[in-house]
Amino acid sequence: MKALDSSISGIILTDNQQPDNPIIYCNKAFERITGYQRHEIIGHNCRFLQKEDRNQKERAVLRNAVKEGKECVVEMRNYQKNGTLFWNELYMSPIKDEQGNVCYFIGVQNDVTRRKKAEQELLHQQDVMEAQISERTKSLKESEDYLSSIVQTVRESLVVLNPDFKVLSVNEHFLKTFKVGKEETEGRLLYDLGNGQWNIPQLKELLENILPTNNPVEEFEVEHDFPHIGKKLMLLNAHRIELEGQYKDRILIAIEDITDRREIERRKDDFLSIASHELKTPLTTIKGYVQIMQRLLPSDISDKFKDILKKTGIYVERLNTLIADLLDMSRIQTGNIELHRETFDFDKAIHEAVENIQAATKTHQIIIKGSATNSYTGDESHIVQVINNLLSNAIKYSPESDEVEVYLSKVSNFLKVAVKDKGMGIKIEDQKKIFDRFFRVGEIQQRFPGMGIGLYVCEQIIKNHGGTLWVESEFGQGSTFSFTLPLDERKSNVQ
Ligand code: ADP
Repeated sequence: MKALDSSISGIILTDNQQPDNPIIYCNKAFERITGYQRHEIIGHNCRFLQKEDRNQKERAVLRNAVKEGKECVVEMRNYQKNGTLFWNELYMSPIKDEQGNVCYFIGVQNDVTRRKKAEQELLHQQDVMEAQISERTKSLKESEDYLSSIVQTVRESLVVLNPDFKVLSVNEHFLKTFKVGKEETEGRLLYDLGNGQWNIPQLKELLENILPTNNPVEEFEVEHDFPHIGKKLMLLNAHRIELEGQYKDRILIAIEDITDRREIERRKDDFLSIASHELKTPLTTIKGYVQIMQRLLPSDISDKFKDILKKTGIYVERLNTLIADLLDMSRIQTGNIELHRETFDFDKAIHEAVENIQAATKTHQIIIKGSATNSYTGDESHIVQVINNLLSNAIKYSPESDEVEVYLSKVSNFLKVAVKDKGMGIKIEDQKKIFDRFFRVGEIQQRFPGMGIGLYVCEQIIKNHGGTLWVESEFGQGSTFSFTLPLDERKSNVQ
């Protein structure tokens, strides 16, 4: 396997015998080409490289080759972790056992973006050139006016730099925000502006990378005591710009003052944290009293009274879970979540969690398939919390179905758990957002109770254990939430 690491082609191995054909091996070049790290790759199906660009006809060729156990070569649009498109020339070949059954697929990938671009450019160049020459003078003038009107109107501070990081121009909003004059900015080096507020080594490195790699700088925060305006928090985005081939290699920086927004967010978080703490104490007392009442219940008490007491207990417990979720969230926000790592029987813990949920569920049958490991070191109660959350979502969001499946497996030096439902599914544009705090899919809000915190907490827990949590879903068909956890942290690239 070490030898494969020296290959310049990306190489992966997928396991055809496991559900959804997960990747079980990748070499270094695959990490380099895709921009993902090994722990984000192992256990996933290769389709994550297509991101949302799913309407590629080559997918059918691939699917067919996998189904028939044949080899194939396709060129597909794939996306790096940072969203950059690259053309992937993918060669897939099956590995068969002695009986001729396909067990694995080996995939060899080469980034052919350059060649593909050259091909496409060549095809277009002839017609484009002719049209361009006549249009050029006119359109340049128009584009320039157009661009400058946009630049002056936007309510964001904009700066244009030349390749040597000298300021070529700034818009009105910039001058107003920073209370500076044009003469203090234009023609000067970005890093020399004001009192050196942009002279940050990490930012410098990112900006210097924009032109050679075309990678934008996104959401870079700068907290600084600015001259004239005082202490502020600024959010910075920077892109390479090019206008009709004329203004080549320029950098556009957009700067947003997020001081107030961040302060409001902080106050909201503080409020949630205090409120959940304050609510927890009386609730724990109520919970205790309900339990005492249940224990001290006289034998001649009416069924109606017993029923009311039982329901009170259930609702108190539900409230308790909601408040515990809020507390978890604020602990994550403040970085106060503690891990109690111990070695435990992972499969047994999952089986027990499933049994508990099954006991409280009449509508669905939960089926467990496969096995992962009987010895895992991590925080058992956190992992159980994740599985409980995924299972209760799978049940909650599949009211028309009566089955949920849990797959346990071991993929390379990772364990993998997948929870699959045949419920309402999640639209592709919502799939990333559901892991955000408080995000709930619009049409779901009214129909199902919830606060939109569960998945956020789950993702943090899995991240804290060095793993990844993701969803694959088709709207109207169902969803599969999967997570992987490294079995031996020393071997994975997570510290
Ligand atoms: P909650 O369930 O409290 O809303 P979560 O963070 O657990 O919060 O989930 C966030 C959102 O993700 C849900 O509101 C729902 O829209 C969507 N979601 C989660 N799990 C599923 C699932 N299995 N099927 C469909 N949608 C889901």
